[in-house]
Amino acid sequence: MIATDPATRIDFASLKSGGIIMQREDDFFAIRLRMPGGVIPADKLPMIADVALRYGRGEVRLTARQGIEIPWIRFKDIEAARKRLAEAGLSLGPCGPRFRTVTACPGLPICRKALADSQRFARMIDSRFSGQVLPHKFKATVSACPNACSRPFESDIGFCAATEPRLERDNCNGCNLCLDICKEKALTIEGGLPMLEEGRCTSCADCIDCCPTSARRAERSGYSVYAGGRMGRYPMLGKKIADFVDEEQGMKIIQRCLDFYQSHGNKRERLGDVIIRTGMDEFVAFVLKEG
Ligand code: SF4
Ligand code: SF4
Ligand code: SF4
Repeated sequence: MIATDPATRIDFASLKSGGIIMQREDDFFAIRLRMPGGVIPADKLPMIADVALRYGRGEVRLTARQGIEIPWIRFKDIEAARKRLAEAGLSLGPCGPRFRTVTACPGLPICRKALADSQRFARMIDSRFSGQVLPHKFKATVSACPNACSRPFESDIGFCAATEPRLERDNCNGCNLCLDICKEKALTIEGGLPMLEEGRCTSCADCIDCCPTSARRAERSGYSVYAGGRMGRYPMLGKKIADFVDEEQGMKIIQRCLDFYQSHGNKRERLGDVIIRTGMDEFVAFVLKEG
């Protein structure tokens, strides 16, 4: 990979870090937009189309991480294209060894299964950390229930909302609806009441939603946190490091993950590999320590 072309003195690495990615064909670049949670206001779409038609080849592409790219922009047109996008309030997404734009599922109030406002949390994370320079790329995502549609296990750090149920015995009428609805078969009848079996419950809250008497209620809610996941040539799923954290605690965990990554990570080493090299126990102790 050429960092700087000696003939043109174009610094490709610096362009890429700002969301302008060199294409295979000489002189052409793709511009990647910053879209936390994969959301963009509809009134910005005409400007994206305008830039694609005016400076590109009239096409846009969707990235694997919920973004939009405008390809086929000539080098001479990059500044004009970026200016037009900026005028519409659109900024470019960070690339290279940086904290990348945060992805998220729709969450509340859109998805019927949602237990949290994943979009709000994604925007919070993005506005605090996006673009931060790190040893390698760093991806974060938020899902609003254990269905994990935005694939939190595949990110360097992933959040997955969960709600642990508890039973208010006096309110239970024994209808067994919760037993029927639980996909995990995590409930069994004991003493005439539906009791939770250790280790099977995914905290999806389906049994809370279906209970006609509100006998099933939320005991604890928050995000489960997964660290060290990635896709690519050597895929690896993240490991759970915390349960039922709120947004503020989640932000602290991210900050500590980044501190650990900065101090222990080698250049071009993903967080998952750093965790394997240094040991999960050391990583978790650092990230979750009080104070
Ligand atoms: S993860 Fe859950 S809340 Fe988010 S889109 Fe999927 S089903 Fe809906
Ligand atoms: S759905 Fe509610 S009322 Fe019915 S068995 Fe379950 S906890 Fe009891
Ligand atoms: S929260 Fe979900 S997995 Fe757990 S008992 Fe209720 S329905 Fe089953």
